[in-house]
Amino acid sequence: MLTQNLGYPRIGNQRQLKKASEQYWAGKIGKDELNAVARKIKEENWQTQLDAGIDLIPCNDFSFYDQVLDTSLLLGVIPQRYSPVLSQVKSNQEIDLYFAMARGYQKDGLDITAMEMTKWLDTNYHYIVPEFTANQEFRIFNEHIFSEYHTAKQQLGEKAKPVLLGPVSYLLQGKEKEQGFERIDLIKKLVPVYVDIINRLRQQGAKWIQLDEPCLVLDLSKKEKEAFDYAYRAISNRVSGIKIVVATYFDALLDNTQLAVSLPVAALHIDLVRAPEQLEEVLALIPDGLQLSLGVVDGRNVWKNDYNKSLALIYKAVEKLGEDRVIISASCSLLHSPIDLDLETAIDPEIKNWMAFAKQKLTEVAELKQIAAGDEDLLSTNQAAIESRRSSQKVHKQAVKDRVAGITEADATRISAFPVRQKLHNDRFQLPFFPTTTIGSFPQTDDIRQLRARFKKGDLTLEQYETAIEQATVETIRWQEEIGLDVLVHGEFERNDMVEYFGEQLDGFLFTKNGWVQSYGSRCVKPPVIYGDVSRPGNMTVRWSEFAAAQTDKPMKGMLTGPVTILQWSFVRDDQPRDVTTNQIAFAIRDEVVALEKAGIGIVQIDEAAIREGLPLRKARHPHYLDWAVKAFRITASGVQDQTQIHTHMCYSEFNNIIEHIAAMDADVITIETSRSQMELLAAFANFEYPNEIGPGVYDIHSPRVPSTEEMASLLAKAADLLPARNLWVNPDCGLKTRKWPETKAALINMVAAAKQARVQISVESVL
Ligand code: GLN
Ligand code: ZN
Repeated sequence: MLTQNLGYPRIGNQRQLKKASEQYWAGKIGKDELNAVARKIKEENWQTQLDAGIDLIPCNDFSFYDQVLDTSLLLGVIPQRYSPVLSQVKSNQEIDLYFAMARGYQKDGLDITAMEMTKWLDTNYHYIVPEFTANQEFRIFNEHIFSEYHTAKQQLGEKAKPVLLGPVSYLLQGKEKEQGFERIDLIKKLVPVYVDIINRLRQQGAKWIQLDEPCLVLDLSKKEKEAFDYAYRAISNRVSGIKIVVATYFDALLDNTQLAVSLPVAALHIDLVRAPEQLEEVLALIPDGLQLSLGVVDGRNVWKNDYNKSLALIYKAVEKLGEDRVIISASCSLLHSPIDLDLETAIDPEIKNWMAFAKQKLTEVAELKQIAAGDEDLLSTNQAAIESRRSSQKVHKQAVKDRVAGITEADATRISAFPVRQKLHNDRFQLPFFPTTTIGSFPQTDDIRQLRARFKKGDLTLEQYETAIEQATVETIRWQEEIGLDVLVHGEFERNDMVEYFGEQLDGFLFTKNGWVQSYGSRCVKPPVIYGDVSRPGNMTVRWSEFAAAQTDKPMKGMLTGPVTILQWSFVRDDQPRDVTTNQIAFAIRDEVVALEKAGIGIVQIDEAAIREGLPLRKARHPHYLDWAVKAFRITASGVQDQTQIHTHMCYSEFNNIIEHIAAMDADVITIETSRSQMELLAAFANFEYPNEIGPGVYDIHSPRVPSTEEMASLLAKAADLLPARNLWVNPDCGLKTRKWPETKAALINMVAAAKQARVQISVESVL
């Protein structure tokens, strides 16, 4: 039996790569220093994997920015617009071309936009989307993968296994940049380059190569399936003497199982954490000779592996295939895990004993192999930890479980239907048509951040800190009144992050010191860990909303993060279904909504920024997910009286396939991101005849650019063509916390002016 690893985090256990890259971009260190940092991380990573006892250790999984961008450079897929950079940077500065593609290039009189970035399947990791043209050519453009293998081999010998994104997934994860062709048809041109790459690696001495084909777990068209079949047959005809392992992950193969097991390769890797049930079907169909890599250790979460569960899968596979054909592995690349639990000194030891980060997961993979070979002691230590978690009072709170188990339809339904509520809101708030508001946060200046840092360090007392935050809040309220916004916000100055702020105040959450995970490029996130039943020991936001409301006669919006977003941006429990955890959070937030109402807050916004990104990879599972996600939102929103107006906010605008579910959330007002698409994406709402009120963002907050009044007024006119004008709100695309004050002020003044213009120019009754 072999063990393998599919990939390892590359940011360094102290985020060394992040720091070095940012210094390099700022011109503070040179290329040699950057490379030295990278080399050290790689060496340490390889050593860690060697020490853990992994048999097949990945190389070329390191990346300065993103492994998909690496693949584009390897294959010479460089968009035309970078030609000037290409000729300007000397050949030994290819890294500058690479960073130009990732981040854009504004130097030497050039101004070239970056390539697009999007989420890698259902993860929070963002990759750089390959751009293809109709006449796309492929060639080996850079030598990186060969030099990586060369270095790895010196340290790892035959254990070094180069890793590369497979040809079909590479094409599918890219985008056509012109019309008149389908990128999947490029497979015939692409495969010969893969053949050359694999043959060169074999000549260098590689015994194995890993080709990642995560698209095998997606819904595939006939043509896409044929491309898989074609590509791997063509490769196997022209390559010998090297074993290929095709890696799939994040879901089950389902209807692609037959296709996957018949690819003419040495081994297939499957994800048995997300989809343990697929083992049965894979074993039923697997042909003689194919090795099977069992992804039993969770590469996407922070929990200790339950060895008994994994062993059951391993033994089942061994029974059918024999030990020689079984490989043990983590479910996917460990890129998505934090690096080293040993660095966490502040986590409650009882809970820490239930956890494993990337480094510990390597040990788990190796130990599973040892246990399968008869080492029983390892098993009993592991099972003691699993049992401690299963029965701990820190995890299990009966009252929370009972409340979720007892959910009724009434818990998830407002008292009256929207038209009744709308009338009550009109009477209560007396807002003009096209009411103006913002999404919640105002600029988090260095001053505000420093306040929090000083308070955390103990340099400020709670009272000093809160007084300073109050002052910022009051100033922001005064200013909102001055420019004539209709529904005010308090500015969220007391919050570090929209999920962390709530996690810190809820029971069942913990926070790590170094649990960083790469999000994109040098950007890392440190998600909270939900380890136990979630409850709310006390009010979380009431103090701030109450204070803010007392400063003004205008309506003040309370501001909360919704349950699905909190779930989506945390590491979650794996001992109960996600919907159960979400419902627990939903009740906690619901209680906060009710507390705000009791404190006199008439409008409460519950942000659900992440509902859409939680969509499962397979369409067949969308309805189930959307049902529970929408229901969780409704639970948070339905504890209040009709007179209370519930808003929600979403940071995206593609609602085409989910609009009926968005409508089912039944928020009184929804604000969305539409300005960059020039309102086009409002079409989904228009076609659906979306009944409730809606605030399509009229300006893009992701850039410092100040939009003109005319520009925003014309966006409003477009929106009013599509939707009943009396249902429209006027607001930016998202929160303003990343902006600076000068542009924020200028933009909002123009926005209020645009709303005033609309009130005069757009006849509201006529669309009624
Ligand atoms: N209320 C949050 C803010 O304004 C919403 C942020 C978000 O949607 N990402 O910052
Ligand atoms: Zn947003």
